[in-house]
Amino acid sequence: RAKREGRNTYRLYQAAVDQQARDQLSMETALRNAVETGEGLYMAYQPLVQRNNRQLASAEALVRWRHPQRGLIPPGEFIPLAERSGLILPLGEKVIDLVLADMRAWKATGKKLISVAINLSTAQFWQSNFVNHISQKLRDSQLSPALITFELTESMLLNREAEGATLLKQLRALGCGIALDDFGTGYSSLSYLHNIPAHSLKIDRSFIEALHPQENSSRTIVAAIASLARELGLKVVAEGVETEQQWNLLGEYAIDFIQGFYIAKPQPASHFAELLEAN
Ligand code: C2E
Ligand code: MG
Ligand code: MG
Ligand code: MG
Repeated sequence: RAKREGRNTYRLYQAAVDQQARDQLSMETALRNAVETGEGLYMAYQPLVQRNNRQLASAEALVRWRHPQRGLIPPGEFIPLAERSGLILPLGEKVIDLVLADMRAWKATGKKLISVAINLSTAQFWQSNFVNHISQKLRDSQLSPALITFELTESMLLNREAEGATLLKQLRALGCGIALDDFGTGYSSLSYLHNIPAHSLKIDRSFIEALHPQENSSRTIVAAIASLARELGLKVVAEGVETEQQWNLLGEYAIDFIQGFYIAKPQPASHFAELLEAN
């Protein structure tokens, strides 16, 4: 009997594994189709405001995918899927095209443009000719390169800091900004920070989440990252600010910009356009 139960358990297990493989494959097929046709892919824009006066300063572009049957799939799910299935480069390309198209549309309707940050994936950043490619796209868009910032994480530069710094300098030379995203998580190349030509640093949401009046260690960490960044001449962004209490606590540190649900959630291009001033 034990043996038969074992066999049944195995069959159930095998069926679950098969089902998972089929799901994965069908998601991959759907994502490939979305990347090829553009269907269901769009950008959401989340405001960054100035800490001192709450004025809109810039935005982060965040990719969204609406699966035809399953609805919105979080990027935390489909970006890793794109990375595993070789779709990350065409997806990254699509993201850049969507952002530039949205910005051109805002401009065409008489809006005053603000700077928009685009997240880069590791493969995208390291693909050969990336800088030339971006440079061409920016020229075609007729938008000022100064309106585009690229967000990278420190781990993307892991073990290739010198090469990475060279690429980043080329992006800066085009006129684009560079932001270090999710700062303080994972690998920190503190010794290399002064060689990375970033203009801003985004303190990871996990530190902001932990901020509490009675909790000293997270406050010490936020204060330390903020003053380190300030010393290095970087603008400081606090990500993931959700409450008034966090907003108030952040007033004590050298924070330049705030991003988070407390200010606004990421919004579709048409909604976001309403926040832009007329030119
Ligand atoms: P990220 O670049 O660190 O983006 C910030 C994430 O935090 C976004 O999640 C945003 O919606 C979320 N967020 C902002 N404020 C708050 C808050 O107050 N509370 C909470 N709980 N969350 C907040 P999202 O859009 O789900 O994106 C997750 C990650 O997926 C991004 O992290 C980024 O690493 C990646 N991603 C998103 N769009 C793109 C893209 O176009 N290209 C690439 N390569 N990666 C992207
Ligand atoms: Mg980001
Ligand atoms: Mg981030
Ligand atoms: Mg992140």
